Amino acid sequence: MSVCPSAVETSAPLAVLGSDVTVPLVTGGEVTYAALDYAASAPALRRVWDDVAAYAPYYGSVHRGAGYLSQLSTDLFETSRKDVAAFLGCREDDQVVFTRSTTDSLNLLAAALPTGTEVFVFETEHHASLLPWEQREDTRVTYLSAPRSSREAVETLEKALAGRDGGPALVCVTGASNVTGELWPVRELAAAAHARGARIVLDAAQLAPHHPVDIAEADVDWVAFSGHKLYAPFGAGVLAGRADWLREARPYLAGGGASRKVARRDDGGVDVEWHTTAARHEAGSPNVIGVYAIASACRALSEAGFDGLVARERQLIATVREGLAEVPEVRLLSLFGDDAPRVGVLSFVVEGWNSSHFAAALSAEYGIGVRDGLFCAHPLVRTLLGSEPGDQGECGAPEAAPGERSLNAIRVSFGAGT
Ligand code: PLP
Repeated sequence: MSVCPSAVETSAPLAVLGSDVTVPLVTGGEVTYAALDYAASAPALRRVWDDVAAYAPYYGSVHRGAGYLSQLSTDLFETSRKDVAAFLGCREDDQVVFTRSTTDSLNLLAAALPTGTEVFVFETEHHASLLPWEQREDTRVTYLSAPRSSREAVETLEKALAGRDGGPALVCVTGASNVTGELWPVRELAAAAHARGARIVLDAAQLAPHHPVDIAEADVDWVAFSGHKLYAPFGAGVLAGRADWLREARPYLAGGGASRKVARRDDGGVDVEWHTTAARHEAGSPNVIGVYAIASACRALSEAGFDGLVARERQLIATVREGLAEVPEVRLLSLFGDDAPRVGVLSFVVEGWNSSHFAAALSAEYGIGVRDGLFCAHPLVRTLLGSEPGDQGECGAPEAAPGERSLNAIRVSFGAGT
């Protein structure tokens, strides 16, 4: 059974929905829409929708029902946890917690940090991995300046960690930049963190859709990612990794599902025994469909393997970069240099153009959907553009007039099925 009659086969290793959508152009006629904004949200895989559609008539609320549908759903929900753990190469004692998104996962980890944890984070991070840590008043956050090479990233971290005291510490790093697509030296950063007794969380929101993520091999303590960037629909995400801090932390949300036993006390209060498993942080009725969809995407990617995807992306990036290089006004944005390894994400400015007008024209006149703005990584994009903090409004709210220097950028991104 298919929920999407417009789905088409493509020659790409993994077929996605939305690949045959036609859109009208302001200049007349219509074209097949080119969705080049995978880094924001990737179109779901056709197989994911098929799996969800096949499950739809049977779904029920998990964990609490004696009925057949509830039991089936519970089984699929918990099997999904195992599938995600397998996709990420989780260790025996790792936990997979289902969340709403990468942002939610990192906020959960921030809430679970032991008191007084020192956090080290590069200022170049996406806001989801830059901002949650200061929400805790008892953490100390050190912002590391933008490195201009992988090696400098590792050296910068080593230097920062050298001066730390012996308490709990966490390094947060992105695996692939949502602005430049550049890969960060995760294994080396993990080794540097562990050598100084710190733990490390990998923001794999942009890495996981393009590249195998193996938590044990990378030797990171936690991984976070979002379903909607991994070719599944919106609404579910993952935090996977070390169980100890999560087990000892206050439940992220208080409520049913997280609590094992609740009883009134003689003094009028309430005693609660919380679960020590992933359920501790999954209070409330979970997003069973979203979780099932993530697991389906993980299975599809594992079965297809990343080789074809990586090869196709490399070819697309090379084609786009070569094409852009022929336009003298175009400046590609890069932190680590042109030769840095990267996933299918790239950003650029066209000198003399307001990036938002340029992106709007690509959509209206050519049916090409890209993104413009600061990509929720304001400090990074400002560094890349050489602009000042006061130069720019919020993400996607540019203030530059046509003909002025660009204060924001244009991003093109690909993925499976592009
Ligand atoms: N981290 C990175 C590197 C991202 O690119 C994004 C989203 O663009 C996020 C985190 C946040 O993901 P979400 O909006 O799904 O929480």
